[in-house]
Amino acid sequence: MAGMTAARLSREIIQRSKSFGADLAGVANVSDIKPSPSHRMSERMPAFNGVGTMSVKGRKRGVVRWPEGARSAIVIAIAHPPEHPELDWWVSGPGPGNTAGNRLLMSVVKKLAEYLEQTLNIRTFRLPYHIEHGAVYMKDSAVIAGLGCIGKNNLLVTPSYGPRQRLRVMLIDTDLPSAGPIDFDPCRNCPMPCRSACPQQAFSTAAYTAEEYGMGELPGRSGVYDRLQCNRQMEIDIANAEAVDLIGQAEVGKRVKYCRACETACPVGTAGRD
Ligand code: SF4
Ligand code: SF4
Repeated sequence: MAGMTAARLSREIIQRSKSFGADLAGVANVSDIKPSPSHRMSERMPAFNGVGTMSVKGRKRGVVRWPEGARSAIVIAIAHPPEHPELDWWVSGPGPGNTAGNRLLMSVVKKLAEYLEQTLNIRTFRLPYHIEHGAVYMKDSAVIAGLGCIGKNNLLVTPSYGPRQRLRVMLIDTDLPSAGPIDFDPCRNCPMPCRSACPQQAFSTAAYTAEEYGMGELPGRSGVYDRLQCNRQMEIDIANAEAVDLIGQAEVGKRVKYCRACETACPVGTAGRD
């Protein structure tokens, strides 16, 4: 790293991430991520015990605790095209990851962390998936890292893949400038097929208001994304889990296919696809 400018190091990180298997990568400074909407809102939001949260003693659910010494975030994404739904199927079992996409992301992060530590002497912080175990809000981090914007479906929307990618964040001890946000908003004049595709009408009412939270950037942009409604669908998806054989396990496992309707209905990033 000696003699390398911040711009060159950022380029190197992005290039290496892609060579290790990421489809998109970007860099953001932690000082820019901390005031992002999810990080600010989470302190004031009512407790949420839905799917994807964890109960950890001494931690308020959903509130990020930044590791000491973390200065920048590297955000990586792998594309999740409709012809590979299995990337996101959640399978029970003792192994790491639980989804194929998550295992792929973990492998990219591992290779990148080893490279940064061993070759450039940069300290890395590999983050788990759950906020309560030490993660940060990945979609907000991705926006600051220049990957895309938060769409009206409350998902990260990128120019290349629309809302169809899976994310992971790693932190490093080196100060790098944020690459985003970028000038990209495909939702502005869109008739919003993402919202009408939702089987739980999760975008039908104002769940959060600017007055209540003192900020204009709210879930689903205007506060209309209701995570309780979405969670209802997740519970239905869990109840409809399929039985699967697990390699090396006597017990039969479960495979959950979570709803992606607001993701697959979006036309962004589909140009050139059949
Ligand atoms: S369908 Fe339209 S409104 Fe919804 S995320 Fe995609 S571009 Fe935005
Ligand atoms: S994942 Fe499914 S239930 Fe949840 S908001 Fe999207 S379309 Fe609605």
